[in-house]
Amino acid sequence: MHKIEILADHMYHKPIDSLTSRELYEVLLHYVKEEAASRPLNSSKKKLYYLSAEFLIGKLLSTNLINLGDYDEVKDLLAEHGQSLNDVEDAEQEPSLGNGGLGRLAACFLDSIASLGITGDGVGLNYHFGLFRQTLDHNEQGTLPDEWLDADTWLEKEEGKSYEVPFAKFTLHSTLYNIDVLGFEKETRNRLRLFDLDSVSSDIIEEGSIQFDKTNVEKNLTLFLYPDDSDRNGNLLRIYQQYFMVSNAAQLIIDEALEKGSNLHDLADFATIQINDTHPTFVIPELIRLLTTRYDFSFEEAVAIARKTVAFTNHTILAEALEKWPMSDIEEVIPDIAAIIRQLDQLVRQEFPGNQKVTVIDDQNRAHMAHIAMHFGYSINGVAKLHTQILKETELNDFYQIYPEKFNNKTNGISFRRWIMSCNPSLARLFDQLIGSSWRHDEDLTGLEKYIYSENVHQNLEHIKEANKEALNVFLDHNQGVTFNPNSIVDVQIKRFHEYKRQQMLALYIIYKYHAIKNGDIPKRPITIIFGGKAAPAYIIAQDIIHLIMTLSDRIKNDPDVSPYLQVIMVKNYNVTAAEHLIPAADISEQISLASKEASGTGNMKFMLNGALTLGTMDGANVEIAERVGQDNIYTFGRSSEGIVNLYATHGYHPQDYYNRPAIKALVDDIVSEDILKLGNPERLNRLYNDIKGKDWFMAMIDIEEFIQTKEKVYQDYEDRKSWLAKVVKNIAQAGYFSSDRTISDYNQDIWHLEEH
Ligand SMILES: *Cc1c(COP(=O)(O)O)cnc(C)c1O
Repeated sequence: MHKIEILADHMYHKPIDSLTSRELYEVLLHYVKEEAASRPLNSSKKKLYYLSAEFLIGKLLSTNLINLGDYDEVKDLLAEHGQSLNDVEDAEQEPSLGNGGLGRLAACFLDSIASLGITGDGVGLNYHFGLFRQTLDHNEQGTLPDEWLDADTWLEKEEGKSYEVPFAKFTLHSTLYNIDVLGFEKETRNRLRLFDLDSVSSDIIEEGSIQFDKTNVEKNLTLFLYPDDSDRNGNLLRIYQQYFMVSNAAQLIIDEALEKGSNLHDLADFATIQINDTHPTFVIPELIRLLTTRYDFSFEEAVAIARKTVAFTNHTILAEALEKWPMSDIEEVIPDIAAIIRQLDQLVRQEFPGNQKVTVIDDQNRAHMAHIAMHFGYSINGVAKLHTQILKETELNDFYQIYPEKFNNKTNGISFRRWIMSCNPSLARLFDQLIGSSWRHDEDLTGLEKYIYSENVHQNLEHIKEANKEALNVFLDHNQGVTFNPNSIVDVQIKRFHEYKRQQMLALYIIYKYHAIKNGDIPKRPITIIFGGKAAPAYIIAQDIIHLIMTLSDRIKNDPDVSPYLQVIMVKNYNVTAAEHLIPAADISEQISLASKEASGTGNMKFMLNGALTLGTMDGANVEIAERVGQDNIYTFGRSSEGIVNLYATHGYHPQDYYNRPAIKALVDDIVSEDILKLGNPERLNRLYNDIKGKDWFMAMIDIEEFIQTKEKVYQDYEDRKSWLAKVVKNIAQAGYFSSDRTISDYNQDIWHLEEH
């Protein structure tokens, strides 16, 4: 008998044939956990700690089975018993520990770190209700607590591990949960370490909402990810969360170094700490606090140790995302840390006298987290070539002037285990047939170049895409009772809702297309435009954009002149699972951010690997995709990032100049046309209309005309199947560079310097 059959019998006293999907999931969960636990931990002298407020890990059953090398065997075993592994996968709840690209990147990185045999753990928090679960009733986003924590999960409590975290008003004692992280066909493992608090309780959440008593820290600390910070208590709670995370991390790091024989003077020989954006920056003053108070180091030496140990990744140039905390808030929550931050500020003022732009504390008495990370860490990296260049030349130029040697680029990547092997197994098998299976280990797909014009390969690709569209239909039907024409072009924009990502520009295109079809310009083939994404609860305009899209969707659905040719779908509760269904079915990847604003993007890479063509601006990693595939194999449009940076610097964008062009005015005015106002919520629609017309901070109107032209060309080109599929093959063949194994290997060579096994 197979171990799984024995486990099934042991747990349920039933054969596999008669287990429900949920029961079978529990059996496989236990099987994988046992297999994982039997693997030794990676244990090189020096260890990486990847600190992140988010780990958007997705469901873990399939990718763990793939990494164990057991996936096909288990699938066959279940099939012999009349069970389907796909149904079992559906029974798993997706962990809700992140919200978007930054958290997903951290998850891909953990997979790659383990797959390269690097000793490295993720460290974060165990949010009981995650971000939120998105509902879409009455064409508006609603928010509910995401109850992802089942009785039985991937989490394992580490007994006996608890740290004291001192706040001004009380001291908390943490608990620690671990999730094993397996590498691809590796005999060892790492862990994701998630700190938590026993006293946290859902009884302070208001029924049916994500509102809760923000002042009751002992009960709310790890309830939600990024609680609303639109008021002061929300801000204070973020400081509580961040400090709780990093104090635990720092104590864990020191503990583990001591266990391995460190005298802490040499901490940097035992640990390197990568901080994922500014959220874990308090780890720097916390290390200094621990070293000076518990281990009697001088302040100067503690600072020197931090400077050799901590490395910082910047993820954005959006000013509002660079965290600045009022010193009075830090003082109120963690006065010892506030005192250290003042000392760090003094130090910087001595080192760079007269340089007001690089101080730790500004003239409004706010602490700049990124400034702490850059002065007191040893590495500063951006996440795509263009992004790093913008950091050096403009956004962080003052720091580049004083620390040029600290700056480096690490273009983001994605885990091929999840984003092709698991989500698109038939395409992965096609790669095996064409170029052998070594790509599964080295992600080298360039062997596919010789099939660019192969009719046989084109036919295979068509069949796989068709089947994936059918599978997406089943998923959408199940998720929200919606289906689409599987013979349509599937055109997808899935990502967090943010004005800089310009979902509103695609909505304007939908208005354009609606009127074109009404006027008799019938598309050669039906078009399905799919959106997915959550908007932050305090981000009203982003929710207005969701509302506009859903209202436009209704208008089209209700109009028999248009509905046979155009459908608009807003996917409910976009998450990793939804992405895994959407991306393999997509023909067109919408990557239309305002140039200079998307630091990298990783969705763009997932689509490319799965045979969709990019329609995008020259922004983030789109630039590197274009470089690799050549301008003939990607559809780019819009103002350049240089031009946009310049427009902001000179206040040179005036929305009226664009609004007053009749073609654009017609589209924008349609947002508040009679039929749309009748279908939708006038308050939301008027607000959005006024915002685009009068402000348009992220310049949707500046590129709309070129966007429409380019989209029309994309749809037209789609009809030349030979030429389209040649482009698809070229894109796939060039996708290997965007493996997160390559990214992690670069981090390790340039920043971490750890052994690979
Ligand atoms: C990849 C991914 C993202 C990031 O998408 P971008 O298009 O790069 O912003 C966000 N959410 C989920 C669930 C993802 O899988």
